[in-house]
Amino acid sequence: MVTVDELFAIDSLLSDQEREIRQAVRQFGDQRLRPHIADWFEEGTFPARELAPELGKLGLLGMHLDGYGCAGTSATEYGLACLELEAVDSGVRSMVSVQGSLAMTAIHHYGSEEQKRHWLPDMAAGRVIGCFGLTEPDFGSNPGGMRTRAVRDGADWIVNGAKMWITNGSVADVAVVWARTEEGIRGFLVPAGTPGFTAREMHRKLSLRASITAELDLDGVRLPGDALLPEGKGLSAPLGCLSEARFGIVFGALGAARDCLAAAIDYARTREVFDKPLAAYQLTQAKLADMAVELGKGELLALHLGRLKDRGEVRPEQVSAGKLNSTREALAIARQCRTILGANGITLDYPVLRHANNLESVLTYEGTAEVHQLVLGEALTGAKAFR
Ligand SMILES: Cc1cc2nc3c(=O)[nH]c(=O)nc-3n(C[C@H](O)[C@H](O)[C@H](O)COP(=O)(O)OP(=O)(O)OC[C@H]3O[C@@H](n4cnc5c(N)ncnc54)[C@H](O)[C@@H]3O)c2cc1C
Repeated sequence: MVTVDELFAIDSLLSDQEREIRQAVRQFGDQRLRPHIADWFEEGTFPARELAPELGKLGLLGMHLDGYGCAGTSATEYGLACLELEAVDSGVRSMVSVQGSLAMTAIHHYGSEEQKRHWLPDMAAGRVIGCFGLTEPDFGSNPGGMRTRAVRDGADWIVNGAKMWITNGSVADVAVVWARTEEGIRGFLVPAGTPGFTAREMHRKLSLRASITAELDLDGVRLPGDALLPEGKGLSAPLGCLSEARFGIVFGALGAARDCLAAAIDYARTREVFDKPLAAYQLTQAKLADMAVELGKGELLALHLGRLKDRGEVRPEQVSAGKLNSTREALAIARQCRTILGANGITLDYPVLRHANNLESVLTYEGTAEVHQLVLGEALTGAKAFR
């Protein structure tokens, strides 16, 4: 028997260091997270504060950023870590993505030297948690329409507005909040506890239950002039961070798919139907073979994009192609695996429906599947079809 990685000789494409990082994250996931993940999902909780220092110790927070206590790994190494984290649960990878690729990347790329020194070392160590507030109740796919507004008042800024669906929001020590100003969209660092700023955890989610999601309310929030991220001007600043996070999803979603496929193969080999193992039926094998091919193709594409990114050559539409493919195929694989597990597949005793439910969010955030189709459509035809 071979795994999908063996079938596609994935290891032959990785360096020793990449394999070591992958193994270290896989071991952490299996030992520290996997035993609890079904309970966290069922209870709708995620011990972000407890886990952040452990994730920081492994170098996973702001992993691909340079300096300021960050690990400074390659993009491919970061991608492989995302894959292993999401093999446990998309909620774990989301926490790491939002901290590193969104909040820390915003500060790293657009912050002043003082802001970087103040926030990044503690964020890399997991002592400080960040969130990234771009989406609003009425503006998700079209963040350029945002209503949150920041106006100058002497040297200060006054921010009013609301953000929704913000991962880590209610546990964050600092929120990166994007707001409309007279000079276009700008980013602000809002420490938790600033008067007028509140974060309320959102409940009743059926997806990403092991992840904290919050609404942010900004009611006359007064911020000093140095709360502004000086180097990020216009919508391209938050979109630049999103492209980083999407790259992690290109790898990450495939981790969820791999975990589903492994569970389905394991189940099919032991479950007997009509007097022989489910795995010995051609219909089952056809499903497994098709899923293995999609997973292997997805991993090869992810690695190719990783290599392009490490050479500084990856283009946003290429990341869109990867995000679209990985999330769409991972969700299809998770659903198909669920069929192999029959009724058992709907329980938390197996990971498949948990992953499938999570992947509904992963398909939607960081640009929906449709938005990435439009990005690719524009790249292929030259015609914008967003409006
Ligand atoms: C669990 C979770 C965590 C999240 N975390 C964060 C976070 O940390 N920070 C943050 O800022 N946001 C976060 N988001 C928000 C996420 O980025 C948005 O949900 C996403 O951008 C989609 O926006 P929307 O939900 O408003 O859907 P809408 O934009 O209202 O889209 C609804 C549907 O319309 C389609 N659509 C939109 N525009 C077009 C078009 N031009 N043509 C055709 N179809 C179109 C979409 O593809 C979708 O199918 C999170 C979301 C979830 C579910």
